[in-house]
Amino acid sequence: MKLLVTGGAGYVGSVCAARLVEAGHEVVVVDDLSTGHADAVPEGCRFVEGDVSEVAGSLLGEGFDGVLHFAAKSLVGESMQDPAKYWHGNVVTSLRLLEAMREHGTPRLVFSSTAATYGEPDEVPIAETAPPRPTNTYGATKLAIDMAMASYAASHGLAAVSLRYFNVAGAHGRFGERHAVETHLIPIVLQVALGQREQVQIYGDDWPTEDGTCVRDYIHVTDLADAHLLALDRAKPGEHVVYNLGNGTGFSVKQVIDTCREVTGHPIPAAVAPRREGDPAALVASSERARLELGWTPQRPDLADIVGDAWAFTRQALRV
Ligand code: UDP
Repeated sequence: MKLLVTGGAGYVGSVCAARLVEAGHEVVVVDDLSTGHADAVPEGCRFVEGDVSEVAGSLLGEGFDGVLHFAAKSLVGESMQDPAKYWHGNVVTSLRLLEAMREHGTPRLVFSSTAATYGEPDEVPIAETAPPRPTNTYGATKLAIDMAMASYAASHGLAAVSLRYFNVAGAHGRFGERHAVETHLIPIVLQVALGQREQVQIYGDDWPTEDGTCVRDYIHVTDLADAHLLALDRAKPGEHVVYNLGNGTGFSVKQVIDTCREVTGHPIPAAVAPRREGDPAALVASSERARLELGWTPQRPDLADIVGDAWAFTRQALRV
């Protein structure tokens, strides 16, 4: 297939673009490099630098079989401080993309959605049938896009799939997580192991969880990328389907830090800090639907393997 990958210079987008090229697809990456890196665009992709909302129309006019849409603003804390950046950057951009797809008859869209659409769940593991009640602006904007996709599927025949990611981590060879401002737990802990930070802050130890720290479901970025390839094949005209992507196992912040200690051999000092605004206590996926309907089976579900791959990438990127 000829595929447009928005945000293909970012973390998940670059891994997915690499997997698509490996599978023999023709891939065009569009990215404005606001948070991505030009050298992260995989070999074999055509790269167009630009804002999705400005260049999607002319690009799609060439004729594409589908779009994988990763380009987004994705920091929960920032979304609470500057909501306009998220409503414009995520929702307005995605609506322009949907319109361009409709205009040029692009048949398929696979979208990078998030567990943050669920907010504080009534029960875990979370199934796709759980009510979406986002507790932060980031999650609200992603939910709005999911809903727009459902409308375009129903009214214009779009074949649409929203993949709701839980906590993505790990690396795929030379493709990994490199954020200018790092907010995610595993990369932060690894920065401590590298001596780039003194300690990791634990955002609250009085949550209603077993050890009092937040629980998340960590999934390997390569497994996540592979679900996109399956979703492309599964997408059906006129249907919008949502799939949760996680391993179904929750790890607390303390357990993640312990695993990082084991993998790196570093003591990793940690200190308890106040809770972070917008954080739910526990997010664990039920990925039964993805397993049954997409035939998706994660190949790297162990947290130690996920952290190990992130650690190898971080050391290689910094040549240490
Ligand atoms: N977290 C933490 N200290 C940090 C960064 C994150 O305690 O320096 C916690 C955060 O509160 C959340 C979990 O680690 O419960 C995962 O956070 P992350 O930002 O990696 O992903 P999110 O779950 O927000 O998508």
